[in-house]
Amino acid sequence: MQTANDIRTTFLDFFARNGHAVVASSPLVPRNDPTLMFTNAGMVQFKNVFTGVEKRDYVRATTSQKCVRAGGKHNDLDNVGYTARHHTFFEMLGNFSFGDYFKDLAIELAWNLITKDFGIDKNRLLVTVYHDDDQAADAWKKIAGLPESRIIRIPTSDNFWAMGDTGPCGPCSEIFYDHGDKIPGGPPGSPDQDGDRFIEIWNLVFMQFEQVDKDTRVPLPKPSIDTGMGLERLAALLQGKHDNYDVDLLRALIEASADASNTDPDGPHKVSHRVVADHLRSASFLIADGVLPSNEGRGYVLRRIMRRAMRHAHLMGCTDPMLYKLFPALVRQMGEAYPELVRANALITETLKLEETRFKATLDKGLKLLEEETAKMGSGAKLAGEVAFKLYDTYGFPLDLTQDALKAKGLGVDTDGFASAMERQRAEARKAWSGSGDAATETLWFELRDKLGASEFLGYDAEQAEGKI
Ligand code: ATP
Ligand code: MG
Ligand code: MG
Ligand code: MG
Repeated sequence: MQTANDIRTTFLDFFARNGHAVVASSPLVPRNDPTLMFTNAGMVQFKNVFTGVEKRDYVRATTSQKCVRAGGKHNDLDNVGYTARHHTFFEMLGNFSFGDYFKDLAIELAWNLITKDFGIDKNRLLVTVYHDDDQAADAWKKIAGLPESRIIRIPTSDNFWAMGDTGPCGPCSEIFYDHGDKIPGGPPGSPDQDGDRFIEIWNLVFMQFEQVDKDTRVPLPKPSIDTGMGLERLAALLQGKHDNYDVDLLRALIEASADASNTDPDGPHKVSHRVVADHLRSASFLIADGVLPSNEGRGYVLRRIMRRAMRHAHLMGCTDPMLYKLFPALVRQMGEAYPELVRANALITETLKLEETRFKATLDKGLKLLEEETAKMGSGAKLAGEVAFKLYDTYGFPLDLTQDALKAKGLGVDTDGFASAMERQRAEARKAWSGSGDAATETLWFELRDKLGASEFLGYDAEQAEGKI
């Protein structure tokens, strides 16, 4: 069997052989990029190279990039435990051309790697192209020999990539693997494309235009290539599995979770094991890259991830902190490829343990309250905003943790009610403030309070809920 570690190496070696510089993954906290919460794709560290602002001594590069998609534009937090293909932390394998090769060679390299080096069955592969991208469609016919029926033209923004409102952009072409008709889901472009039968493995982006302003798009003098393939999705199919969580790397973490909780990895706690395995990875890698749990910004996303995992540990019957006990299993799997995990061992272990110890103190009580409330609710009902707010304010339950708990029971939360409860509490705090009579100081105090939170669990706002911070 090719392990996930072998597959990563095969990928990087292939592109190194084809003239690409092997570049290390950049940290999860993007450097000099306040617009982005976490690195969420391989191209992030090369943004300025694509725009020409920065020059490197190579024109072709390949990476295995650590990515977190748990906030901002790409947020897969709610998919974890529910789809076979999403993680909050994953590795994106990529190859990049900075004004060097373009479409034809990008398609040829991708096709050769997956069908020859990795030996994937051609008959299970299909691709999408942007609807007017005849050049790409022709290349897939000519180079890969794909029939028209396996080249799906997509007219939506799914197949048109843009760096932002302005800047480089262009059509993309995605490669899908058909896991067979036993799994529900339709091909890309069909109404049930979000099922897990046809799984997108690789996205090839053809940067060929520059969006100058809202109405003007000009061709780039030197078009570029940016690709991204999920290591875990590739590993799943190469290991004869459908589900990312059955890949050796994740399976080892699921088994560690099962051992630590003394439960069956495939029994009734299956979903919880998946969430724990996934969140252990994102939390550990975020801490290794300098993020610590806090009440705002990146730190609050980390805290939300950790607390979600902790609720699942609780569901498995763990009364003592357990996440930190799984960390050695993660180091065994990924410590060689990512030595920062080994370097930050003590910090990660202590942070996981401390956060879980602190949250335990209110988690049990909060869950009891939640149980009492849900017992009264009919199916499809929404939890009162006041209750969700109490869980947040008194028991430290991030709103999305409550939503995650309720989703499993087919229930929701009245988020408007939650927002007004929050607003009311803020207004009351203002009223109760006797103050010094110094208007300027008071304003400052309230600004600080709103920014930092009055108690440990404040500092939440609707934008954070949506991960827009
Ligand atoms: P999907 O449509 O399945 O959510 P995507 O189109 O959002 O994927 P891209 O932004 O194109 O994904 O990222 C490039 C590749 O990274 C994808 O083809 C996939 O293999 C992988 N990938 C994306 N998101 C995730 C995730 N949350 N977990 C694991 N792999 C992912
Ligand atoms: Mg996605
Ligand atoms: Mg997609
Ligand atoms: Mg995609």
